[in-house]
Amino acid sequence: MTRRLARRLQDVPPTVFTTMSALALRTGSVNLGQGFPDEDGPPEVVRRAVAALQGGRNQYAPGPGVPELRQAVAAHQRRHYGIDLDPDREVLVTAGATEALAAAVLSLVDPGDEVAIVEPFYDAYLACVAMAGGVRRPVPLRRTASGFRLDVEALRATVTDRTSVLLLNTPHNPTGAVLDASERAAIAEVAVRHDVVVVVDEVYEHLTYDGVRHAPLAAEPGMAERTLTISSAGKTFSLTGWKVGWATGSEELVTTVMAAKQWLTFTNAAPLQPAIAYALDHEDEAVATLAADLAVRRDLLCGGLAELGLDPVVPQGTYFTLGDVRHLGWPDGEAFCRALPERAGVVAIPAQAFYDDPADGRHLIRWAFCKNRSSIERALHQLARADLTA
Ligand code: PMP
Ligand code: GLN
Repeated sequence: MTRRLARRLQDVPPTVFTTMSALALRTGSVNLGQGFPDEDGPPEVVRRAVAALQGGRNQYAPGPGVPELRQAVAAHQRRHYGIDLDPDREVLVTAGATEALAAAVLSLVDPGDEVAIVEPFYDAYLACVAMAGGVRRPVPLRRTASGFRLDVEALRATVTDRTSVLLLNTPHNPTGAVLDASERAAIAEVAVRHDVVVVVDEVYEHLTYDGVRHAPLAAEPGMAERTLTISSAGKTFSLTGWKVGWATGSEELVTTVMAAKQWLTFTNAAPLQPAIAYALDHEDEAVATLAADLAVRRDLLCGGLAELGLDPVVPQGTYFTLGDVRHLGWPDGEAFCRALPERAGVVAIPAQAFYDDPADGRHLIRWAFCKNRSSIERALHQLARADLTA
């Protein structure tokens, strides 16, 4: 940390993804850490971006995003979920889901406001709340026989009239949980009762398995006017480097978020936005194929990790699984992850970065299966040959 760092960022560690991907590169390890796929998304989408680059789409996009992308996002929400949005007033294009999250928290949270966060949480949430001066109130997901599930009692106890925003993610990185109907209903009930705005990050909306389907919180009774939904092209179309995302919700909420967003990037990725509009309109089949293929890779990775005693949870969605290293004698997942490149040539993510109190996630490790089958096989082979005990 530098001595000039503003106080509100002093308790925010550097993102674990940069640290662990640099470690993978430095040690030549198989990177099952940071969640980006080995293979790029649909070739026609890339061709559309090239055409836009060569076809004069290189100046600033309009503040809320190019009209065809806003229309495609609205059409996507209608087609998949029956949610009707006005593309001119209820859709905002952002620099990835990351900017949408930052703009949402910065525009909705005052210093001292309570923000309930479902935990474990994606690490950017912690940074966003810190930058806004908000006070985190974690609501845990707990491991059960059917994967990680929301602790509804804790939700009811934590969300009160003092809560300004509930921040969560489904399908859930890093646990792989997809909120079920009773969990969604409980969230809607507390949000309505305490007049809370819900910011829900649905970037893995299409990556679900075994017939489990994602259902948006915005579609729950009473939630349309109080839910800001965030998604992104990165995971759905395997184009994480493009950083094209969006936020949708009522005109009032979208206008509120725009107040901060316009001062962050203003706009981004003008030539990529029409290509993502094309992807949303025409690439449903490629997305379904990706999800089916990921299910096979999930089984490969989870099966292999289970055999090694790493106790992975079988995720219903996303491309991550969480495992427990205590069975191998490690109390501390961070130490395990630091030893792993040298012992096995593999990088994974210590999940304690996703907890308010790192001690609660100390034993958990996140493994990504968005990598090629050959990368997963190589990692499993190397793990099997290594001494993984503490
Ligand atoms: N939310 C979650 C839960 C994520 O896993 C990620 C990583 N894609 C993001 C947000 C950030 O998305 P983007 O790359 O579109 O900014
Ligand atoms: N969302 C991805 C993950 O969870 C990548 C995040 C990042 O690199 N900031 O691994």
